[in-house]
Order: sequence, then structure tokens, then C-alpha cells
Amino acid sequence: MKGFFGDFGGMFVPETLVPALEQLEREFNILKDDPVFTADLQRYSTTYIGRPSPVYYASRLSEKYGTEIYLKREDLNHTGSHKINNTIGQALLTRYMGKKRIIAETGAGQHGVATATVAALFGLDCTVYMGAVDAARQKPNVDRMKLLGAKLELVHDGSKTLKDATNAAMRDWVKNVEDTHYIIGSVIGPHPFPEMVAHFQSVIGREARASFEEMGFLPDAVVACVGGGSNAIGIFKGFLDAPCELYGIEAGGLSDNEGDHAMAIGKGRAGILHGCITYLVQTADGQVADVHSVAAGLDYPGIGPEHSYLHSTGRVIYDKVRDEDAVSAFRELARREGIVPAVESSHAIAYVLKNPDKFNGRRVLINLSGRGDKDSERDI
Ligand SMILES: *Cc1c(COP(=O)(O)O)cnc(C)c1O
Repeated sequence: MKGFFGDFGGMFVPETLVPALEQLEREFNILKDDPVFTADLQRYSTTYIGRPSPVYYASRLSEKYGTEIYLKREDLNHTGSHKINNTIGQALLTRYMGKKRIIAETGAGQHGVATATVAALFGLDCTVYMGAVDAARQKPNVDRMKLLGAKLELVHDGSKTLKDATNAAMRDWVKNVEDTHYIIGSVIGPHPFPEMVAHFQSVIGREARASFEEMGFLPDAVVACVGGGSNAIGIFKGFLDAPCELYGIEAGGLSDNEGDHAMAIGKGRAGILHGCITYLVQTADGQVADVHSVAAGLDYPGIGPEHSYLHSTGRVIYDKVRDEDAVSAFRELARREGIVPAVESSHAIAYVLKNPDKFNGRRVLINLSGRGDKDSERDI
């Protein structure tokens, strides 16, 4: 069925949004294969983001752990993570659709910054919705969004965090859909967002596959952290048809207790979240549960519907890493390789370092989804 990955996905939204989603689907399907659009995207990828990002062989880490460890360096992208691959693609799409304004929701502020950046780049009017509690916790990102010229709308409803910001952004979109595009930050939300965001992030896997083919071999396993799941889908797309094991690592947080983790697949059940059917962490009576992760980017109760599908078919193995192990891996990569990873990406690194039984003597590609400058000042 259109917009579904097996039993997951779909478009469960207020009727007023259906025409906008259908328009988006139409335009995206035309533009993604349009030579002018793709050349434009390619040019910005190269000259603005700094692509292609290299695959780096981490020799000192590999030596210590007895595993050949390769890192896909998305941390080297402009603004410091993979998020810009998606925001630049969607902002360009906005421009081609003739819309003048973009909106976004943000939790930790990373997606807000990536959106404010491309708004400045393309001269688009930009409003970012952020929970008041989150804004107080993420002052540097708030300042950066303002510096980039975005309007920041603080949301004082509910828990004043990401899900309230998402609801506020949805309300704005319903009202202003004629001239406004809503840039969702991961492979989540109603169709066509999961498919579209995956398309813009698939550059990660395409480049990584080419790097390995140049070296003359493939990795035995590919490992990525999973919040909504965009960096993971992006790298997996390059290896789904290859004989490589794929691992998606969820935030195990402090414990398996409700409220202590963000394991949508590990501890969740299927339900509807933000316009699609997917796995999400729920309370006993079916409400969206509180979640926790030391990594703000993984602190999300759901996961993209394509991941739910890849879990159901068994093609990708989903597992967890606890906060403390992610923080150890964060320090280990800094000291052993001189690379400070995002604490999100550190979950993927920790999984490889902590599971020698799975990875010893093998070649493993880890997606280093972002850099850790934002994390290095925190007391972690
Ligand atoms: C936002 C973020 C993530 C989580 O988002 P996904 O959509 O799961 O990729 C992971 N790593 C970094 C560095 C991030 O900024």
C-alpha cells in the first residue's frame, strides 16, 4: 500500500493537511529524479555541506579492541551532523515548490539549528517551535538559531518539550499550508516524510558503499544509533542488498524501567505517533510514555516506520546501549583517535566495543552521525 512499509507507516493526519501532504508527495516524486534539482542538490552537498564525507579507518581503536573499525565521518559536515543532509534537501524542495516559509520543531535544538541554517542559505522565512523547558536546557542552540535569523516560538503547553513543540508546529502548518513547508527532522511523521527524509539521507550509505568498493571489500557489519532513525536508514540504504549484518542501536538510558530509556523497538509496542503507525514506548494504558537518554537526539518515544518494518523482517537487528556505556565510548574515541563524537553516535561505538563476541576479528562500519562539541562542555 502507498506510504506503507509492511504494516507500518501511513498518513494519519487531520483532513486539512491531506492536500499539503499529497502536493508534497507529488512534487517530491517529480523533483527527486529531476536533473536540474539533483544537480542543484549535488552542488550544495559538495560546496556547502562539504560532501563526500570520508570513511576513516580507526587504527588505534581497532588495535586495542581486535576489530577492524571504520567510521563514516558525518561529524565533518557543516553544522556538525547528518541533519543538514535532510534540511538542505527539504529547503531546496520548498524553493522549487515556490513556498517562502519553513517551520520546524526541535527538542535539543540540533534540527532547529540545521533548519535555521538552510533558511539563511536560501533566504526563507523561518519559525522554529521549541518547548520552553527544552529551550532553557539548550541555551547555546537557542542563541545560534536567533543569530541565524530564525524566529523562535517557545511552547508553554503540556510538558513544554518536544512533543508539545511538534503539536504547535502541526497547528501552524494547518493554518499556513499555502505558503509554508514543515521540515520534519527524521524518518518519522506521515507519508511522504519517512520516505523523503530517507532519500535525502541515503547519500551516507551510497558514499560509504563506494568507499568500501574502492578498498575492494565490504564491511561485515554496519552499526548506527537510532533516535527517529534517519542517520541509520541513511547508511543502511547503501548495504541492504549486500551480505552485511545491520545493527540499529537504541538509547538504553538508565534501566529498562518506564521513563528511564527510549527503546521504541526494544520495549515499545505498535501504535500511532505523529501521523504514522510505528513502534513507540507506551504506558500500560496506551499513552505515549516519558523517555530518557543522555543523548538529546535519541530522546524520542518513537522510531521511523521503516525501522519497524526492518525489525519485523529481521533484516536489521535492534539492540540497546546504556547511558554510561555511551559516555565511556565517547571518552574512548576522543582519547584513542582524537575524534570527539556526539554522545548519540557514541551509542553505536559503545555497542561495537562492548560486544567482542559479535565483532572480534571482523570489519565493522560505524556511522559517526555527529560531532561532540555540543557534549564536551557538559558534565558527562
Ligand atoms: C539528531 C541526531 C541523532 C538522532 O536522529 P536520527 O534521526 O535517529 O539519526 C543522531 N546523531 C546525531 C549526531 C544527531 O544530531
